[in-house]
Amino acid sequence: SAAQAKDLRGKPGALKDGTPIPLLANVGKPQDADAALEYGAEGVGLFRSEFLFIGNSEPPSVEEQAKAYAELLSRFPGKKVVIRMLDAGADKPLPFLTPEDEPNPALGLRGLRTLKAHMQVLEDQLEALVEADRATDAHLWVMAPMIADQYESEYFVKLGKSKGLKFVGSMAEVPSIALMANEVAEVADFVSIGTNDLTQYTLAADRTLGSVANYQTAWHPAVLRNIKLIADAGKAHDMPVGVCGEAAADPDLAVVLAGLGVTSLSMTPVALDDVRAELAKHTLEEAQEKAKRALAGEFYHPAE
Ligand code: PEP
Ligand code: MG
Repeated sequence: SAAQAKDLRGKPGALKDGTPIPLLANVGKPQDADAALEYGAEGVGLFRSEFLFIGNSEPPSVEEQAKAYAELLSRFPGKKVVIRMLDAGADKPLPFLTPEDEPNPALGLRGLRTLKAHMQVLEDQLEALVEADRATDAHLWVMAPMIADQYESEYFVKLGKSKGLKFVGSMAEVPSIALMANEVAEVADFVSIGTNDLTQYTLAADRTLGSVANYQTAWHPAVLRNIKLIADAGKAHDMPVGVCGEAAADPDLAVVLAGLGVTSLSMTPVALDDVRAELAKHTLEEAQEKAKRALAGEFYHPAE
């Protein structure tokens, strides 16, 4: 029940047998950090830095950004906070960075691709992050969105570390990175799977388009098999693999993700109670069994 789910609020996320599955919050605006704390998040698994840029005609200064990141980090002392580099483009266009004439924006300049086309924006954001990290004592992890393969992953990790960041990773949102997951695990400190985009690109169905909305489910076995490739690579290389897309907020799917070997889940704060309660009902072995059935497509119902 909802009351029972609330009872677990102060407890860390775990399966029935005690296997830890840390539960983190997605933060897309300043108030979400309040909700994250209220609902017992163990940290932040996805800070969508876009909101600092939206509504402006130019990027925020290094100082403005450093202040915003330090404000967030200072609310989670000793905790993990994953900040995502600006994800401009496609469903998150920014007028001063995103071209207006792309026929297929989801396949165009977005995420790390946009940042590489605007190196000053990339360098400024990294500088602000390093500054905020030095001023606070959360565990800052930094990741870039829309990384296609180990080459881009290595590029970003090396750049972040050269600036002074300690823990640098890749989002997994494009099927190519799942196919290259073992190589990625050799260069990245962690991977966080963005299931919203991973689903969009695995099934080639625009996530913003109502006419193909029935494709947008991570229950599709093809999406789950891509997730498994990444989780297996993580296990083999002792690399953390989180999920920060909508899939993590579905309690039944969260159990499947844990069974696939995902090591943490990040979601909208209001979903934390129900996911925490559902994970506590299954042992790792049961979650693995459920994952096996999900990989076979047992829980996926194709639209007519
Ligand atoms: C995702 O793609 O799953 C994700 C977490 O990022 P966003 O929804 O912001 O693209
Ligand atoms: Mg995404």
